[in-house]
Amino acid sequence: MMMQSFQPPRRVLMGPGPSDVGPRVLQAMARPTIGHLDPEFQALMEEIKSALQRLFNAPDHACVPLPAPGTAGMEAAIMNLLEPGDRAVIAVNGAFGGRMADMADRAGATVVTVEHDWGQPVDPARVEAALAEAPTKVLAFVHAETSTGVRSDAATLCGIARKHRALSIVDCVTSLGGIPVDAAAWDADVVYSGTQKCLSAPPGLSPIALSTRAQAAIAGRKEKVRNWLFDFNLLMGYWGGEGGRTYHHTAPINALYGLHEALVVLFEEGQQAAVVRHARAHEALVAGLEATGLRMLVDEAHRLPQLNTVLVPDGIDEAAVRAHVLKTWDLEVGAGLGPLKGKVWRIGLMGASATPWHVRLCLTALCEALAAQGFDADAKAALAAADRRLAA
Ligand SMILES: *Cc1c(COP(=O)(O)O)cnc(C)c1O
Repeated sequence: MMMQSFQPPRRVLMGPGPSDVGPRVLQAMARPTIGHLDPEFQALMEEIKSALQRLFNAPDHACVPLPAPGTAGMEAAIMNLLEPGDRAVIAVNGAFGGRMADMADRAGATVVTVEHDWGQPVDPARVEAALAEAPTKVLAFVHAETSTGVRSDAATLCGIARKHRALSIVDCVTSLGGIPVDAAAWDADVVYSGTQKCLSAPPGLSPIALSTRAQAAIAGRKEKVRNWLFDFNLLMGYWGGEGGRTYHHTAPINALYGLHEALVVLFEEGQQAAVVRHARAHEALVAGLEATGLRMLVDEAHRLPQLNTVLVPDGIDEAAVRAHVLKTWDLEVGAGLGPLKGKVWRIGLMGASATPWHVRLCLTALCEALAAQGFDADAKAALAAADRRLAA
């Protein structure tokens, strides 16, 4: 068979990630590949490290982008901090908390999960009760649960970890860039993210930040870290020192050009301005959805602006709605996961996808798809409600 170049369709990405990637980031990634030990590339690595410190507000943390998607940050955090027999408390309020618990179990830790109904934020009181039961090495939780659209109180949870002398691991894959992430103010030990959510770069890198406490714990391990690629004791010899770098792995060079450009774009806009943009797009989307009779899964107080879980009305074939908007509008929205499968849509307003244009397109397309199934969806009312919010 003759192979031909792959030409992807043009889509509008409003699911749980990846989000739309802007032309500046795509063009940056098409620039010439250079060697990963080239002095020019090492200068880029240094710039990315300090940009990540600014991004996480982690001036005293060691920050690097791991060469794999968001799950890599999770795996690196769990595998480096936990040794066999360590006690780990993991808050589970959706799919990603569950993934952390599975990893901690594979690391040989004694895992205590604090389970929540999907759609609820992590309950600090129940987490604290679990930490009070026995000495605990790690408390891990998800700041922005992408499977449910729920935000948890990272500052309070990290404070509880400190009080009980546990190291905190905070999953900021979906939160970073969309809502405030502040490793210094939280006094968090490990925070990690991914590039394809609110940073709007393609998937494939996982920025991570480690506190000095976390670094000391890793340096003082009794056993070697069980995965080689993400062992920070080895990895920091590559990303850590200025100059004197030796080969560890080959950094994904062009992907790092993309992350760098995404950060240039974000800092040009301003991190606070980006947070406000996400909040405004979210408020307009919810106003539009509610005007057409749809309801949100999550209570207003705990909603994530960048991930909107919308309840599927009775009698509606949710998969047919997604298929309709993809076919007719080139619009991707997400399906529910786990216990929410078939019950919700997940509408992402992440990074470059958090604009008034995306909100209006999504409302128009959804109303059309719902009307095709006989649901009385008033697109005019939805757009008018969204526009009123955008004008306010
Ligand atoms: C997307 C996501 C991950 C996993 O990231 P991948 O890039 O898919 O590996 C982890 N945690 C949360 C909260 C996420 O939204």
